[in-house]
Amino acid sequence: MARIETPNRIRGTQDIFGEDQRRFARVVDAFERVCKLYCFQRVELPVFESTAVFARSLGETTDVVSKEMYTFEDRGGDSITLRPEFTAGIARAFLTEGWQQYAPLKIVTHGPVFRYERPQKGRYRQFHQIDAEVIGASEPAADVELLVMADQLIRELGISDGVTLQLNTLGDAETRDAWRGALVAHFEAHRGELSEDSIARLAKNPMRILDSKDPRDRPIADSAPGIDGYLTSEAGAFFENVTNGLDAAGVAWTRNDTLVRGLDYYRHTAFEFVTDRLGAQGTVLAGGRYDGLIESLGGNPTAGVGWAAGIERLAMLVAEPVADTPVVVVVPMGASEADFAMRVLALLRSGGIVTDMAFAGNFKRRMTKANAAGAAYAAIIGESEASAGQVALKHLGTGDQRLVALADLLAAVQ
Ligand code: ATP
Ligand code: MG
Repeated sequence: MARIETPNRIRGTQDIFGEDQRRFARVVDAFERVCKLYCFQRVELPVFESTAVFARSLGETTDVVSKEMYTFEDRGGDSITLRPEFTAGIARAFLTEGWQQYAPLKIVTHGPVFRYERPQKGRYRQFHQIDAEVIGASEPAADVELLVMADQLIRELGISDGVTLQLNTLGDAETRDAWRGALVAHFEAHRGELSEDSIARLAKNPMRILDSKDPRDRPIADSAPGIDGYLTSEAGAFFENVTNGLDAAGVAWTRNDTLVRGLDYYRHTAFEFVTDRLGAQGTVLAGGRYDGLIESLGGNPTAGVGWAAGIERLAMLVAEPVADTPVVVVVPMGASEADFAMRVLALLRSGGIVTDMAFAGNFKRRMTKANAAGAAYAAIIGESEASAGQVALKHLGTGDQRLVALADLLAAVQ
């Protein structure tokens, strides 16, 4: 018979196992802990949405919409897109589910997101984000709270060394128009040196050139005029409130006056936590204020601010977490002790003791497994122990062994 070929894992997806999974879990655990400290509420959202949810809000000329979305027609003929980020779906839910009544709403979520990108280290087609948003708050205090929370998360993950917060303002509409004009003039003067993509951006969305990763664009983007010369006094005051709040909370930041974000909906505050430890994938957490987003989805003007971080990128930076180890491994000597071993296992686990069982191979192999698992104790069960309702409890560190009745077992291992 012909051998059946195993289908491959899809390019850019991951099977996260072992050490990688422990790192991943460490990021999610820290995120959930910090979110609770800051009184953010968890939401669960669909993995796919109508294509319009993303196309309208992210901007047609953005990289994500123009070339990275997983869009398909479902069996009913509707255009569906796998979420490439959380914010647009959250804004959609805010409008369709009547969450306006809870505004200002502090919400968090995490899970898989999908982008058709060129896969490489730290860049996948299905990756995972943690996400935090405050919707319906136009005060700079909301920006500050989100940034302080992100900073605490980075510190709790033990990665603040080498991770910097870069901060900018994109101002209000008036500021953006004036800055846009100056950017167009600058880029027009260097038109011949720009990448083809950026020449196209110049006509449609010149700010996007600042965010280009093409090495031909970088020197021109880096020498572009910053936003400060064009800030209205209102936009300047808003930004000052944000930076004052950060200083008061003791959050370190650096100004990057040409930082823009890859999506169209940002206003005022824009920020990235960056590291030089991940090569070209150096942005670990990013976000900003998106006061125009809800309107682009047909809602009333509603302020919003938020951030998202790649779980995989944060996971690559954290120290390797130690694997969980059982407190006890139950080792029946043979098949006739199996039932009693089940009783012992149930007793320990019901009592909240992390317990594994070694049931494969001969007794020597089972003890090897108990030792390799890093357990504190082996609960050894031979024929005489089983009939007396006892286990031989061996402390694997010292080698001490004693008989313990089932009634005393929980106390003995606690
Ligand atoms: P990049 O500039 O690296 O493409 P981005 O600006 O497209 O990132 P955002 O849309 O701001 O990223 O998403 C927030 C975070 O999600 C990023 O800071 C990064 O940590 C992570 N991220 C984005 N794209 C990917 C990907 N393809 N694989 C893994 N993580 C990603
Ligand atoms: Mg990107």
